[in-house]
Amino acid sequence: MILYTFCHSCKNDISIRSMANTRPELEREKGETFEVRCKKCRTRNQVHVDQVKAKPSKVVIALGVGLDSLL
Ligand SMILES: [Zn+2]
Repeated sequence: MILYTFCHSCKNDISIRSMANTRPELEREKGETFEVRCKKCRTRNQVHVDQVKAKPSKVVIALGVGLDSLL
């Protein structure tokens, strides 16, 4: 999954680098709120895990299948 949220200032998508696949995993990894910086306007955004969206990533799925076949 690709995790992303929206910049409070310019509404641009901000992708979040994380190994987490679910919201509870993300919360364990980064905490209930964490800071992300918008690449477009450089505003620092305090993000609550509930504000994080996820979209499927074909690249990640392909990697997952590749790893499964190796194990
Ligand atoms: Zn922004």
